[in-house]
Amino acid sequence: MADLKINLSEKDIPQKWYNVASDLPFKLPPPINPGTGKPLEKKDLRQIFPLSLIEQEMSEERWIEIPDEVTDILRIWRPTTLKRAVHLEKALKTKCRIYYKDESASPTGSHKTNTAIAQVYYNKKEGIKRLTTETGAGQWGSALSFACNIFGLKCRVYMVKVSYEQKPFRKSLMRMWQAEVVASPSTLTESGKKILKEDPNCQGSLGIAISEAVEDAAKDKATNYCLGSVLNHVLLHQTVIGLEAKKQLALAGETPDFLVGCVGGGSNFGGLIHPFVKDKLKKDSLRIIAVEPFACPSLTRGKYEYDFGDTASLTPLIKMFTLGHNFIPAGIHAGGLRYHGCSPLISALHDKKIIEARAYNQLDVFEAAVLFAKTEGIVPAPETAHAIKAVIEIAKSEKQGKCIVFNFSGHGFLDLASYDKFFNGELKNYSHPLKEIRAALKNLPKI
Ligand SMILES: *Cc1c(COP(=O)(O)O)cnc(C)c1O
Repeated sequence: MADLKINLSEKDIPQKWYNVASDLPFKLPPPINPGTGKPLEKKDLRQIFPLSLIEQEMSEERWIEIPDEVTDILRIWRPTTLKRAVHLEKALKTKCRIYYKDESASPTGSHKTNTAIAQVYYNKKEGIKRLTTETGAGQWGSALSFACNIFGLKCRVYMVKVSYEQKPFRKSLMRMWQAEVVASPSTLTESGKKILKEDPNCQGSLGIAISEAVEDAAKDKATNYCLGSVLNHVLLHQTVIGLEAKKQLALAGETPDFLVGCVGGGSNFGGLIHPFVKDKLKKDSLRIIAVEPFACPSLTRGKYEYDFGDTASLTPLIKMFTLGHNFIPAGIHAGGLRYHGCSPLISALHDKKIIEARAYNQLDVFEAAVLFAKTEGIVPAPETAHAIKAVIEIAKSEKQGKCIVFNFSGHGFLDLASYDKFFNGELKNYSHPLKEIRAALKNLPKI
C-alpha cells in the first residue's frame, strides 16, 4: 500500500525561493506611482519597506537565496507533509487521487508564517524596530506577531473590526506573542478618523486596515509596514510550498492533473502553483484552479485594471483583478478572502488564461469543510474550505480518476464559532450584488 503521508527531511527544505516572473512568456504591467503616473521606482517604497524586500518585489531573477537565519526558523515546522486524503476519496466514491499540502502545521496554523519570518528578518537586518500591519481573520496578524516576537521587533496589528469582535481567540494569540492589537477603523490614524466620521459604525475592511497600517508606518523612520499577501515578494516566500510539493509528488510517483487553492490576495495559491507554471506552459492538460467566495469575487467578477491596494488611496496602483478599492465585502466568515483585489502575478496568470477561477457560496463551502473534517479529521479554516469545495466537485466529475493536489492553507480551530453558526443554521449565502460591484468599479483611478 502506498504511503498516505509523504514526508521530506529537514535538509530538503528549499534553499532558494522560486521567482515565477523570470519564466513568464509576457511582461508584467509595472506598479504605478499615483503621484507621477509613472512606473514605481525603488525609492518610492523606501518609506515603508526595507530595500531587500523592494528588490525582491521587482526582481526578475529566477532563484533567490533563502537566508540561513530564515531557514533556521522555518525548520520548526518545515518541510510540511503532503497527505493523501483517502478517506475523503472513499466518501466521494471517486477514482481520483486527492493530495493536500498541509500548511496548517505551522505554529500559527496557516501558510502565512512562511513569509512573516522572512519579512521580519529583512526588516530587522535593515535596522527597523517596529512593524505595523493589517489583519482580517487574524491569521496574518498572528503570523507576524509570532515572527516579530522571535526576532525581537515591536508589532502593531490593525484588525478589521468585524473580526476583532467575532474572533477573540486570534487576539489572544497575538497578545501571546506580545503584539498590540487595534480594532480598525481606529482613532489612531487620520484614515481611520475620516472613515469613522463618515460612518461611526463602520465594521472595517482589509482595505481600510491597510490604509491605517501604512499611514502609521510612514510617520516613523524606525517603523515599517508588512503585507501578508498580494505582493510579489510575499508570493515568492510562499513558493517553499510548491517546491516541496513537487519533490513529494515525484516521490509518490505522481504528476498532478489539477492544482487547486483558495484565493484571497493570492499568496497560498501562488506559493503552491508558481513552481508548476512552467509545466502548465508545456502541457496544457494541467489545470490550475483558483477558488474564491461569491461574496468577494474579484477574479470571477472583477475587472483587470489598475487600482489602489487600500481604501484611502495611499498605496501604489497595481494592475490586478479588482472589485474597486471602495468595495466593502459582506461579513462572511472566510475573513482571509475578503480583499477587494488580488495579487498582480495571479491576476496576470488569470488574464492570460494560464489559470482558471471559480466562486462558491458560503453554505456549500462549509458543507465541504464538514465532510473533510468527518473523513480526514482536520478542521479546515473557512478559507481553505473553498479549495476543498472545488476539489470535491472536480473529484465527482472526473470519472476516469485524476491526480488532484490542493493547498491546505490553514486549520479552523479558532473558527469553531463559525462552524457552530453553520450547525445552528445561522449562516446565509451571500453573493455580492452585481449592481454594487459595478458601482464600486466606477471609482477606479484614471491613469
Ligand atoms: C489569509 C489566508 C488565506 C487567504 O490569503 P492568500 O494570500 O490568498 O493565501 C487563505 N487561507 C488561510 C488559512 C489564510 O489564513
